[in-house]
Order: sequence, then structure tokens, then C-alpha cells
Amino acid sequence: MTDIYGLTYEKLKTRLSEIGEKPSRADIIFPAIYGEPPVPLSELPLKKETLEKLSGIFFTGELECIRVQSSETADKYLFALNDDNTIESVLMKHEFGYNVCVSTQVGCNMGCAFCMSGKLKKRRDLTVSEMTEQLLAIRKISEKKITGISIMGIGEPLENLTNVLDFIGAGETNRNAKSLSTTSTTTTKWR
Ligand code: SF4
Repeated sequence: MTDIYGLTYEKLKTRLSEIGEKPSRADIIFPAIYGEPPVPLSELPLKKETLEKLSGIFFTGELECIRVQSSETADKYLFALNDDNTIESVLMKHEFGYNVCVSTQVGCNMGCAFCMSGKLKKRRDLTVSEMTEQLLAIRKISEKKITGISIMGIGEPLENLTNVLDFIGAGETNRNAKSLSTTSTTTTKWR
């Protein structure tokens, strides 16, 4: 089974084609699963046979939030991953909107002197779906319109470049389709 939040629009079209479905169904599926609220796979406006086929191949993953620490300027979310690792994401509250700071790795090997997160050595890279689901979970829990994404949470994004680029690619498609309200994605630079 594939977590559909790990696929870019193009990869979803390819996968649909591989299972004998029209790639153009991605135009229905993609905006719907990222909608506010997301439409469950079983409720997509598609034929029953197609829905049955999709439900045997895809699922929509969801991160389990185990703690939220709120302050005036930011809310910190601690999420449990399937393998018992945890990651942190931050909702930053700016005058101009709400920005989600997404983590890209469990731990980090960069060792920046000022950073407590870097004290935990890298255990693994995050998958595309684990990055996307930070955003979706925070949007759901906070009930805020997310206007920007910063890839500046735990981890060095350029060490996980392939997944980070797919995560950005999925976000760009959604922005174009207006299914996510974000207007920008920014990331840190290689040290
Ligand atoms: S790259 Fe980021 S997460 Fe890693 S140690 Fe430096 S500041 Fe911390």
C-alpha cells in the first residue's frame, strides 16, 4: 500500500496509468486529498470500481500529534512516527500570516553550536509523506490558513534532497490548483 501523500502530481499520474486508470484522474484526486478539509479516498467523486481499486493501492496517512506547546508567537507540535521516532514542527504566527516550519530528518548531523535539535544525531531521512503530513496535521489541529512553508525544522534539507524536492513539487501543484492556501516555500541553505 502506498501513502498517497508521498506522491507528486506527476508520480500519481504515472501510478494511475500503471494500474489501468486514466492519468487525468489525478486532477480530481490531488486537489481533493489536499482540500480543506481533505476528502477521504473513499468519497472521491469517481466510479465505484475505481474507488475500490484505489482503496486497495493507496491510503492517506496521518501523523499522530502527541504534544502541542503554545506561545504567543509560535506553537510547537511533537509528532510520533510509525517507527517510534518523533519529530517536531512549528506553526509560526506572523503579522502577515501563519507559516509552518517543517522538519526533514529525524535528528541532524550538522552540529550547529546554537541548536538543541542537532544534539540528537540523524537517525533517518523523512519521507515525502511525513513532510506533507506535518503540514496537513497542523492545518487541521490549528484550524489556521497556512500561508507559507519553511523547510527549516529539524534536519538539513539538502541531505534529503530528492524527498524535499518532491515535497516542494506537491506543494507547488497544490498552490496552482488552489487546494493549499500557501503562497511561498522557503528553505535553508547548505552550511
Ligand atoms: S542544520 Fe538545523 S537542525 Fe541541524 S543542527 Fe543545524 S540548526 Fe540544528
